[in-house]
Amino acid sequence: MVTIENYIGGGMVQPASREYLDNFEPATGTVYSQIPDSDDRDVNLAVDAARTAFPGWSLTPPEARFEILMRLVSLIERDAEELARAESIDNGKPLSLARVMDIPRAASNFRFYATAAMHMANESHETVGQAINYTLRQPLGVVGCISPWNLPLYLFTWKIAPAIAAGCTVVAKPSEVTPMTAYMLSTLCIEAGMPAGVLNIVHGLGPKVGASIVAHRDVKAISFTGGTKTGEDIARTAAPMFKKLSLELGGKNPNIIFADCNYDQALETTVRSSFANQGQICLCGSRIFIERPIYERFKNDLVSRALEMNIGDPLDEATNLGAIVSEPHMQKILSYIELARSEGGTVLTGGNQVTLNGRCANGYFVEPTVIEGLSHDCRTNQEEIFGPVVSLMPFDDENEVINYANSVRYGLSATVWTENLSRAHRVSALLESGIVWVNCWLLRDLRTPFGGVKDSGMGREGGFEALRVFTEEKNVCVKI
Ligand code: NAD
Repeated sequence: MVTIENYIGGGMVQPASREYLDNFEPATGTVYSQIPDSDDRDVNLAVDAARTAFPGWSLTPPEARFEILMRLVSLIERDAEELARAESIDNGKPLSLARVMDIPRAASNFRFYATAAMHMANESHETVGQAINYTLRQPLGVVGCISPWNLPLYLFTWKIAPAIAAGCTVVAKPSEVTPMTAYMLSTLCIEAGMPAGVLNIVHGLGPKVGASIVAHRDVKAISFTGGTKTGEDIARTAAPMFKKLSLELGGKNPNIIFADCNYDQALETTVRSSFANQGQICLCGSRIFIERPIYERFKNDLVSRALEMNIGDPLDEATNLGAIVSEPHMQKILSYIELARSEGGTVLTGGNQVTLNGRCANGYFVEPTVIEGLSHDCRTNQEEIFGPVVSLMPFDDENEVINYANSVRYGLSATVWTENLSRAHRVSALLESGIVWVNCWLLRDLRTPFGGVKDSGMGREGGFEALRVFTEEKNVCVKI
């Protein structure tokens, strides 16, 4: 059994407590590795290492940072298959998905920011006849990066890469539910020659390790992706210390399908946006609004497609739907399906836990579930479920569906299907959402800003926005 260790000051370190937590393989329901049960002492050690490394790293030219980050890219690509397999075992996602999405994107995150940092420019303003002002953009110092379990290495690196590229040093915490690829990354950092203390990875529980990173006086900024409730807790601690915050939180995303859409593409993509990664992508469209003339046809086709999905061992190439990440999360999903029933919803397909044979007999599997007959404002349609569960609702006109879509506390992403160009722009502008996809889903250009509105978070990551998160502007005014 693998025993994961913290990565602090350039080496692998046991937790101060010498205590470890069980790490489960969700497809089998068995413990397959141990992770450090770290606490304040480990976080203090990591912050000290990061603080020591900061003066040297922040003065390292971007070209030299680029060289190190690109070595890491090569190593991730070299070990891509091993990392994809580890991600699949740790998270329950199909290996085929980890291969094409999670691991390539982790490499892209480092590649993108290694390069971006070399192109970051500072502004200058002339006060005519009196002075030249220039903006000196400087790395903040030690920053904290905290990530969730649904896209483990993908989101972990999405935070770490811009922080390091910007010249900050980092104390990072992956989810305790999916720590394995972050651990593997730490060994690759050593191999890549990452200077000691530039990246430190502390494993353990959120309320212990995460909260300790957030509360540490010497951590200047927190970049967090996770649930809205955790984001609230983080903001409560960080705000009185005036820390910079980037919070990427939950969603309850609308998928709006107009009758004039390209039907086949809308259906094909809706199957993915409903059930990819077992519906555990913050950008999945869980509320599907269908214009009434095509409602029955779309409903029947979506149900047929859900029935065709292959629920199975995540390591099996034929699997479309793997395991739910943990037993408690599976119970939460099943309880929401019960709630939907009690609110008057009809489960058109799915709704149950699945018991597989053989190796995965004790795994956490849930059928792809399609529900109809619920109002837009009931709890099932207002709260984030984060599983393979979608709710279908018919609509009759544009204003009505915009009101439905905007009726939730969240505003992360939305999808609009229409061939009417004017409507596509009009509806996109009126949706309360950080991201709107028109006639597509999950197409991500890393140069574009990413983030939510309302209770889906604050701040933007992606592109130069992320480099701005980890730097502070200083105005220097030089009299002429
Ligand atoms: P979570 O909030 O429970 O945990 C996220 C991370 O925060 C974990 O590493 C956890 O250990 C840590 N944490 C927990 N309590 C903490 C505390 N008090 N202080 C500091 N850190 C703490 O979220 P999760 O269940 O891991 O992930 C699922 C959630 O993440 C969903 O709500 C999903 O929508 C959201 N998410 C959002 C995005 C986005 O980009 N907006 C992307 C992926 C996931």
